[in-house]
Amino acid sequence: MQKVNSIAVIGAGTMGAGIAQVAALHDCDVQLLEVKPEFMARGLEGIQKNLDRLVEKGKLTPDERNASMKRIRTGTPFSDLGGVQLVIEAIVEDLEIKRKVIRELEAAAPPTAIFATNTSSLSVSKIAEAVKNPGRVIGMHFFNPAPLMPLVEIIAGDMSDASAVDFAFNTAVAWGKTAVRAKDTPGFIVNRVARGYYLEALRLLGEGVAGIDEIDGIMRRCGSFKMGPFELMDLVGLDVNLAVSTSVWEQMNQHPRFEPHEIQKQFVAKGCLGRKTGRGFYAYDRDPPLPAYMVDRKSFLMSPLLADAIRAFATRASADCSTVKPPVVSLGKEDGEIRKGNSRGSQLGSTEQYVFTRILAAVINEAGLALDEGVATREDIDLAMMKGTNYPKGPLAWTGEIGVRTVRGVLAMLNESVGRGRYEAARAFGEFERH
Ligand code: NAD
Repeated sequence: MQKVNSIAVIGAGTMGAGIAQVAALHDCDVQLLEVKPEFMARGLEGIQKNLDRLVEKGKLTPDERNASMKRIRTGTPFSDLGGVQLVIEAIVEDLEIKRKVIRELEAAAPPTAIFATNTSSLSVSKIAEAVKNPGRVIGMHFFNPAPLMPLVEIIAGDMSDASAVDFAFNTAVAWGKTAVRAKDTPGFIVNRVARGYYLEALRLLGEGVAGIDEIDGIMRRCGSFKMGPFELMDLVGLDVNLAVSTSVWEQMNQHPRFEPHEIQKQFVAKGCLGRKTGRGFYAYDRDPPLPAYMVDRKSFLMSPLLADAIRAFATRASADCSTVKPPVVSLGKEDGEIRKGNSRGSQLGSTEQYVFTRILAAVINEAGLALDEGVATREDIDLAMMKGTNYPKGPLAWTGEIGVRTVRGVLAMLNESVGRGRYEAARAFGEFERH
């Protein structure tokens, strides 16, 4: 397999600069192309700072740093792309702009060059349709920050040549990354499976079950997640996160599982975008940051069957979630609709177990549905979630620990009580149970 030694990266923003840094550190010549001089300056400054930091930490010698910086040459998208083997596009997430730019690049690049798009949520196949030879267009989805995040999803479009896909896969591995293969479907693996983590947390907040810091704390403590869903949305940027949810929701025929949440839309409309604006779900002018949204807490009844299913799921999924605490919620429901009420005929459950179960079950089920649709292998789905979002375990391996029957039981109960079809179980779990 041919080793990559010359690439072009289009766009010197957050992702483009990070990808250029990764390639240059792995002995690759990089042409970094950008339309806005100020963005180019900022991108180069960021790379220089990152490399200086590596030198300070003793991970790079000053000579290696200087040689890496020298490998990055700058230009505009109209520059002659010379003998590059790979062109990685990391410009704005807009289908028409990406199609236009890739068409122009095809004319400027050698006929053998492979084109990779770093899109988070657009169809690789639709981008590829814009060029004369769509076989050489693939997806190479790096995660932010590209120099630090180990995962790269390699996406085969409908018309991608197998050799182009292999080339991209081997390049990511040669650059020290963990590469997984994924089908060209909305959100690929990570941005699809992670939707449940964010959206179910937002729904729990909107339903008045628990507050922002409470939900984050539960997921960190019970699930050993490094960050709770709201902390993570603040880090990613509420606008970026909302754009991905909206894109996946639209491409998935507006399935209720992916429906963007009103609370998040309101934050974005107010310009509260997370850490980058100093305010998101938390206000960052205090240390530690304080939640910036007061939950309108409600108490509910929970049917005995649902309470049992949740207890079984939560205690098997987490040793730290096994003690039943006094209920802040108890949910009711025989007829499908949750209602406020007294505790007659209800069973006590813990808020902790309920929150943890709803969020983890949503994530696990999405992983199963991705498997049903052949998005990736079981191993790659788990690997992607651990390396792309730092999940403590792969959701499908977690299913094995909890027990498939328990997972199916809780999904069936949740689908009846809060679902709107949101918890309709993946077929894969039925197959796991048979084997
Ligand atoms: P960004 O806004 O930081 O950078 C985009 C850059 O592209 C800007 O500097 C812009 O001036 C430049 N640009 C726009 N049109 C151009 C053109 N025609 N030629 C050259 N440069 C052009 O955006 P980003 O966050 O780096 O995202 C880039 C891509 O990577 C998007 O497709 C996004 O979905 C994807 N992505 C982003 C993240 C993330 O967390 N930021 C993660 C994974 C993938």
